[in-house]
Amino acid sequence: MGQINLTQVTKSFGDVNVIPPLDLQINDGEFVVFVGPSGCGKSTLLRLIAGLEDMTSGTIEIDGTNATSLPPSKRGLAMVFQSYALYPHMSVRKNISFPLKMAKMDQAEQDRRVNHAAKILNLADYIDRRPGQLSGGQRQRVAIGRAIVREPSAFLFDEPLSNLDAALRVGMRMEISELHKELKTTMIYVTHDQVEAMTMADKIVVLQKGNIEQVGSPLELYHKPRNTFVAGFIGSPKMNLIEGPEAAKHNATTIGVRPEHLAVDPNGIWEGRVGVAEHLGSDTFLHVHDTGLMETMTVRQTGDIAVNHGDTIRLSPNMEMIHRFGPDGLRL
Ligand code: ADP
Ligand code: MG
Repeated sequence: MGQINLTQVTKSFGDVNVIPPLDLQINDGEFVVFVGPSGCGKSTLLRLIAGLEDMTSGTIEIDGTNATSLPPSKRGLAMVFQSYALYPHMSVRKNISFPLKMAKMDQAEQDRRVNHAAKILNLADYIDRRPGQLSGGQRQRVAIGRAIVREPSAFLFDEPLSNLDAALRVGMRMEISELHKELKTTMIYVTHDQVEAMTMADKIVVLQKGNIEQVGSPLELYHKPRNTFVAGFIGSPKMNLIEGPEAAKHNATTIGVRPEHLAVDPNGIWEGRVGVAEHLGSDTFLHVHDTGLMETMTVRQTGDIAVNHGDTIRLSPNMEMIHRFGPDGLRL
């Protein structure tokens, strides 16, 4: 189980309202990612679900039970933090079994659960080491192990990979995805990184200033962003958002064209001058100025193309991939 329903949830700190009334349904077994810029309320929302913060108003239901006033320990959820919070003087085994020991669980059952978690997380060879003798990725796995042994109905992750270097982050991202496929337990994962959201989520919740801007699968958000905020936030490099007369031609206030939907083309309808040209081999990113449409237009071409700083180029948008938005920023 791991069905979580939030109804009209709000949170204020003093007179500052951080979460306006918010409704959200998280289904059993789903991998849900809360994504949004720093300060938008992701951690607050996760902490409200965990019971680590009190809601100002609203209700939270976990597996059909009203959990609004239940303490964290009674919610059946396990949280994994960015700072691993491991006990330095305890072995990996003792760190992982700690919550079970606190709950005075039968020793044989403790051992069974710890061995199972260590196996899933590839920690069996390190089980007698102390945290100081482990790499950052291994420490993060110990913290996850400590959550797994509790057999929670949902895992809550708050930016668990932020302290890891880029290569390790990609590796751990996949490990957590694999873990979800294996355990099939609900996971709620908070990140400001839209690439993490796109690669891990079944369902993404995009937040801005505590508001849910859109809920959908990664590809729904990519293909049909509900508004200009989601359009600009999801996708890398960012979607080009063009206002003014060019948008008016499409009966829109703003049109959006993703960098990958622009082609360098001698017959293209738009002209500009190349500023920075990034040649990655696999892709070429061009930052194009003086188009008269927007300050800098970003273009992504597959492979290495012979275009360099200072070149004047023409661009052809894929008309079928243009997004249209109205005066309120909403998708038309
Ligand atoms: P995120 O995790 O998306 O970066 P947070 O949920 O941590 O954002 O914070 C959302 C907003 O609430 C921020 O403006 C932050 O300053 C404010 N906030 C968070 N916790 C507290 C608190 N304990 N007291 C006052 N303001 C807080
Ligand atoms: Mg946060």
